[in-house]
Amino acid sequence: MKTVRVHAQAPAKPRQGAPCNGCGICCAGWPCPLSRLLLAHRRGPCPALHWQGQRYRCDLLARPRVYLAWLPARMEPLARRVIARWIALDEGCDCDAEVEL
Ligand code: SF4
Ligand code: SF4
Repeated sequence: MKTVRVHAQAPAKPRQGAPCNGCGICCAGWPCPLSRLLLAHRRGPCPALHWQGQRYRCDLLARPRVYLAWLPARMEPLARRVIARWIALDEGCDCDAEVEL
């Protein structure tokens, strides 16, 4: 059992395998390996988890250079593609957590 806090207007977590709706449960409770590797994050919600437009988004994907100061501007498009692949963007919800409100 783990308590995960998300925005009151965040959408409900869909079932595993359904399209991601940006509920934020995964990144708030179980940040991805990139969060640990690139952001040196260890506890709590991922610092790149960003509430925008009534859903959560990965700000590391949206704005890599905000978090990776060493990344040259010309490499940012490539970094976005690599990050999108690493976080399995558009491959559906891969979080098997069961949510109780
Ligand atoms: S992958 Fe699943 S738990 Fe994570 S934000 Fe998308 S829908 Fe929510
Ligand atoms: S780096 Fe992005 S996908 Fe990974 S936990 Fe943080 S917000 Fe989520």
